[in-house]
Formats: sequence, structure tokens, C-alpha cells
Amino acid sequence: MEFNLKRHFLTENDCYKAGRTITPQGVMVHSTGVAQPDPEVFIRRWNKPDVDKCVHAFVGREQVIQTLPWTTRGWHAGTGPAGRSANNTHISFECCEPPGHTYQGGEMAGYNVEANRPYFNDLYENAVQLTAMLCREFGLDPLEPGVVICHAEGHSLGIASGHSDVLQWWPKHGVTMEQFRQDVARAMEGGDEEDTMTQERFDQLMDNYLTRLGQLPPSGWSAPARAWAEEQGITTGDGDGAFRYRAFPTREETVQMLYQLSQK
Ligand SMILES: [Zn+2]
Repeated sequence: MEFNLKRHFLTENDCYKAGRTITPQGVMVHSTGVAQPDPEVFIRRWNKPDVDKCVHAFVGREQVIQTLPWTTRGWHAGTGPAGRSANNTHISFECCEPPGHTYQGGEMAGYNVEANRPYFNDLYENAVQLTAMLCREFGLDPLEPGVVICHAEGHSLGIASGHSDVLQWWPKHGVTMEQFRQDVARAMEGGDEEDTMTQERFDQLMDNYLTRLGQLPPSGWSAPARAWAEEQGITTGDGDGAFRYRAFPTREETVQMLYQLSQK
């Protein structure tokens, strides 16, 4: 199955707006705790103020949608018993659960393991691919303790609130987190998939690269010039208050800046 990664940042969420950053040291896996397979539904629900939670991605059966820059500090783990939080260290994603079940006392009720097997297998593969991609990108070893963990494991480690995800779900399909870590490590080792560069994959990598460039803080030496350009209205940012000073300008943006200068 093709790994289909899209991006829709939750720009209206207070977490996105807070814009704090982390140096990722791991990946925390969550599941939503509700029978709703469509990531878009969560994006609509969470892309607003006063939601007080936010993750870096939603993993569905057919697609993965990135909802925060990977180095933005998420609001996903709460606080552990010792007052520490994986929010400061871990990239997070929510796995969307298939339709058809409810919850009773934290346990899934009416979950049909057989009928949901194809859904689970596809979603699991997406979770593996996403985690492998993140581990590669941030130089993480998924087999090292505490690096690739689920919310429930985070609680045991003292860095997350007392939730049971994904251990209320994945073991029904015979999958442990240990298995997941092994599968992520295997996916990172190369397989055929990784060696095949497609145009789509290249565009995705280029897109990630350009986004990350835009997120870099500007250098101190350009401060007077930036202050001047902003004061003169020559550069006006992207509407979200981000000036993306380290990103490349297009010819379109260049003439726009010249034009704005000419209007002074
Ligand atoms: Zn969770």
C-alpha cells in the first residue's frame, strides 16, 4: 500500500499558535478513543481555539495527515506522575479507530476483531511507515528504551497522563508495542520501498525541506534589515505572523517586495 502523507496544519488551535518547539527524542503513539475512522473529522473538530489538545498527525486507513510541524511542541501526553511530560520530547500521532464500537469503562465494547482486521492492517502499516520516516528524519533508534512508545507506556515511564491507548486496542489484533518497534526498525532498514524514489516522494521530501527551512529562526545579523523591511511593509509575512526568513523567495515574491518598495 502506498504511504499517503498530506499536510493540514491546525493553525487555529491554541497549541499551534503557542508555537513552542522541541528537539524530538521520540514518537508517542495514541489512539483517539472513539469509533471515527476519518482523520478529516478530527481536523475539523480540533482546528479551533479552546481545544486544549493537539497532535502532530492523524493516521487513518488511507491517509496520514500531518497537523503540526514535527518540531512544534504538541499537547498530547498530559503530565506524568512525576510532573514530567512527553510533550517536551515526543512527536505524537493519533490512530483513528474504525466505526462500530463504543467504550465502557475504558474498554472497547462491541469491537469486531475479524471484520476490522483489514482496516487495522492498513492503519498499522501507515503507523509503521510514519514512525520509520520520523525516526530517520530525526536520527532516532526505535529500539532504544523510551523512544517509540504509546501513551500507556508513557504513563508507566512517568511522562504521560493515565490513558490506556493504544494497549486497549492493538493487542486485540495480536500486536504489541514491542512488535511495533521491531516493525519500525525493519521499515527503516531499507526494504524495496525506501530505495524506490518516486516523483511524489521526491516532492514530499522537497516540501518537507522547504517547510523546515521556513521554520528556522532568522540570524541576528539581519535584524536591522528585517525591522526596516517589516516597518516599510516590504515584507508582510504569510498572514500567520510567520516571515519565513530562511526560506527561498520565488520570483513572484521577489517582484512583490520590489513592488511594495516602489510604492513608498
Ligand atoms: Zn493518548
